[in-house]
Amino acid sequence: MTTKNRNGQTHEITFGKQRIPFEVQFRDRKRLAISVHPDRSVTVLAPEGRDITEVVNRVQKRAGWIARQRAHFEKFQPLTPSRRFVPGETHLYLGRQYRLKLIEDESASVKLVGRFFRVHLPDRDDTEKVRRLLDAWYRHHAKDIFARRLDFCLDSTRSLAVSTPEIIIRQMKKRWGSCTKSGRILLNTELVKTPLYCIEYVIMHELCHLQIHNHSRDFYRLLTRCMPDWEQRKLRLEAFVL
Ligand SMILES: [Zn+2]
Repeated sequence: MTTKNRNGQTHEITFGKQRIPFEVQFRDRKRLAISVHPDRSVTVLAPEGRDITEVVNRVQKRAGWIARQRAHFEKFQPLTPSRRFVPGETHLYLGRQYRLKLIEDESASVKLVGRFFRVHLPDRDDTEKVRRLLDAWYRHHAKDIFARRLDFCLDSTRSLAVSTPEIIIRQMKKRWGSCTKSGRILLNTELVKTPLYCIEYVIMHELCHLQIHNHSRDFYRLLTRCMPDWEQRKLRLEAFVL
């Protein structure tokens, strides 16, 4: 038996004047799969032993689609991962940007007014306090919004045979959501920064996992029955960077 090299090889296709590089990885699989990532990179999973010229030709045929996906990602402003909690900085809520206003006040509070997050606190230079106040605000609103979207998702489909699960909200580094073996749904607090449309997608995805625990064809069939436009919602969500 020969050891097959699983390291990616870089190739290129063209679309109009654009040159689009992509990485090919050979895997033990039957079909070719093309993925366009939020950083606009393209990876192709190809069946082991497939001729590379054929792979490149197949990818070239999808050039229009690939270019459209990449353009879609380009349109989005990615979330800046680090925030300094200073006046004028933008913070997201339900996919919209709000600017931070710090107001000196004896008692601390956070209010969303117009296009602003108004944070009242005794010391405007206490950025750590601003961060804690905003985090608490997000957690409070996430709880309420996630619970309502869960009800909405459950009401919108008859394809699911699950009872209302408990939702746990947590700060997670790499995932928007997951579910536990005991049938609870974990959602990332940060999800409340994305549009309702995306929040519903993550909840529906996890609800389907309560019924089918893997990512099999049956799983995607169920998800499509419950939420026919889940792919668009997923693409939109992927444009947000934690
Ligand atoms: Zn999943």
